[in-house]
Amino acid sequence: MRIIVILTMLLSLSSPVNLRSLAVHSSSLRPNAQSKTRVVLLGTGTPNADPDRSGPAVAVVVNETPYVIDCGPGVVRRAAAAARNGVNGLDVAKLRRLFITHLHSDHTSGLPDFIFTPAVLERDAPLEIYGPPGIKAMTDHVIKAYVEDINIRLRGLEPSKPRGYVVNVHEIKTGVIYRDENVTVKTFPVKHGSWKHALGFRFETPDRVVVISGDCAPSDSVIEACNGCDVLIHEVYSTAGFARRPPEWQRYHSSFHTSSKELAGIASKARPGLLVLYHQLQWGVTPEQLLGEIKEGYSGHVVSGNDLDVY
Ligand SMILES: [Zn+2]
Ligand SMILES: [Zn+2]
Repeated sequence: MRIIVILTMLLSLSSPVNLRSLAVHSSSLRPNAQSKTRVVLLGTGTPNADPDRSGPAVAVVVNETPYVIDCGPGVVRRAAAAARNGVNGLDVAKLRRLFITHLHSDHTSGLPDFIFTPAVLERDAPLEIYGPPGIKAMTDHVIKAYVEDINIRLRGLEPSKPRGYVVNVHEIKTGVIYRDENVTVKTFPVKHGSWKHALGFRFETPDRVVVISGDCAPSDSVIEACNGCDVLIHEVYSTAGFARRPPEWQRYHSSFHTSSKELAGIASKARPGLLVLYHQLQWGVTPEQLLGEIKEGYSGHVVSGNDLDVY
């Protein structure tokens, strides 16, 4: 469903402007020179406020066109860092397409950043957002919250590109939800506790297939979506750390997330060329120890993702 969020309604109360006429780790950088497609981890964190890990966000960059999945806190500054590191497609003004796995705050609290920072930095095109039911209401509320800022920037002395403030929201289900000359994007349902709508994403580009689990408990749909894909980016928690968690948290985590032991089984069936661990709940275990937990049950290529890693 294509829903246009036009600022006209918001601004018409106080503004003569007719927006209807506007239609409304750097050292770890490892670009693959042969590939047109690069996968950039913009944020590998969780709700925990780890200063070394921004909130969950991944960019698939094809022919210097960025497709960003999730917008955890810090997302735009991480994109700017990746651009500074040489991924030109992540120049902030180029951030025009955003895909959301689910509406948990750690995956969406960068939404105002993603809407407004590139707009201020002269994005000269609308922002297209694709996400599960509820993303339209969330976006509408964010835009309403910033109406004073929008008025000042568009009606004051500040040079601005009003088209960059236009947001089109597309509430999506499963299957093919987007296609252009660079990518075909498919979504699939994943189990994430009591969330009614939680999605994984499969990006098919001219040279690669990249699958992103989003947040999920073990889901056969991930295995089917990957099925020998080039890169599988999957969330995980430490099996050893889990054993030390209080029972009420164990109940929560086992319903919402995937243990290292479970992920080893999933990866063995999904057979990715590369398994990347992100959204890691470590609970005192080091990334190396968590990798070790995976390798006990999985013999394929696996790495622990860090912010700004490129694959
Ligand atoms: Zn999360
Ligand atoms: Zn979640």
